Amino acid sequence: MTEKTILVVGGAGYIGSHTCLALANKGYLPLVYDNFSGGHEEFVKWGPAEQGDIRDRVRLREVLAKHKPVAALHFAGLIEVGQSFQEPEAFYDVNVVGSLTLLQALMEADIRSFVFSSTCATYGRPERLPLDETHPQNPINPYGRTKHIVEQALRDFDLCNRMRSVMLRYFNAAGADFEGRIGEWHTPETHAIPLAIEVALGRRPHFSIFGEDYDTRDGSCIRDYIHVNDLADAHVRAVEYLLNGGETVDINLGTGTGTTVKELISAIETVSGRPMPVVKTERRAGDPPTLVAGNGKAENVLGWKPKHDINDIIRSAWNWHSRFNG
Ligand code: NAD
Repeated sequence: MTEKTILVVGGAGYIGSHTCLALANKGYLPLVYDNFSGGHEEFVKWGPAEQGDIRDRVRLREVLAKHKPVAALHFAGLIEVGQSFQEPEAFYDVNVVGSLTLLQALMEADIRSFVFSSTCATYGRPERLPLDETHPQNPINPYGRTKHIVEQALRDFDLCNRMRSVMLRYFNAAGADFEGRIGEWHTPETHAIPLAIEVALGRRPHFSIFGEDYDTRDGSCIRDYIHVNDLADAHVRAVEYLLNGGETVDINLGTGTGTTVKELISAIETVSGRPMPVVKTERRAGDPPTLVAGNGKAENVLGWKPKHDINDIIRSAWNWHSRFNG
């Protein structure tokens, strides 16, 4: 039997490449479609790659006709919240226009199962915790709003029987493949764990703690870090759910338990055996004290539960960053 081809748009990036590995482990053929603006050719190891932009409908048509995938996962996009305030038009172009162009090409090719990388940033300021899927969505930055707009389009495409989708709202993706073949590699890097590890490795002078006077157990912010392999596993389940006829659904992906910035630092110090130079600064505007996922729906709908804790995350990330000289 020939293996089923799954289109992985943005599959040369961090979460997309780990999902390609998970798909290949389950007997699927991951076909990467990526413009390599933020991804890496060396991350494409488990199937073919086609270079192209999600805004290029002609190229998309060509690739879909050639490979005939049965479903699509869409990771491609601009991801950095700070940059979304500097260049909102680029975020609308890539994240909204690009996603709609991709969706049109898929529907035209009669591919009607779609998994979308959304984000907890679509919720905005938490009104209650944990943040479950019934929480109102009021994004407070252009990045979150572009993702929310695509979610709304997906609802309409579902309403008109054009496309069924799983909208996965990730919390903080972290960690790396345990064998160190792929890992987190963003330029510029803005995520806390790789930044802190680079400090521990002596590649950056210090790690900044933004605010120590929050109403949390040690005064520093709490975030929900989810291992990238757990995310990848959820994507495989989401594709299979759709291929088995599942309905359009929104699902949070987080552990449901948070880690403070200070706990993160101490975990990295333990794994690395090195003290971490820190600089304590003022709170950053717009940073909520706590962001933690309600993740019961993921278990109910996909039978998914995270397997890895913060120690697995730090160990695998440390392993990846210490062997990587990029
Ligand atoms: P990444 O930058 O590593 O991967 C994105 C990939 O998309 C890259 O390979 C890049 O080359 C490709 N891409 C970008 N623009 C493209 C375009 N116009 N055409 C074709 N390909 C294009 O990012 P990531 O951390 O793997 O995130 C993947 C997705 O998950 C993103 O959509 C992001 O918004 C979402 N997300 C990530 C996190 C996180 O913690 N990393 C959290 C929530 C949501």
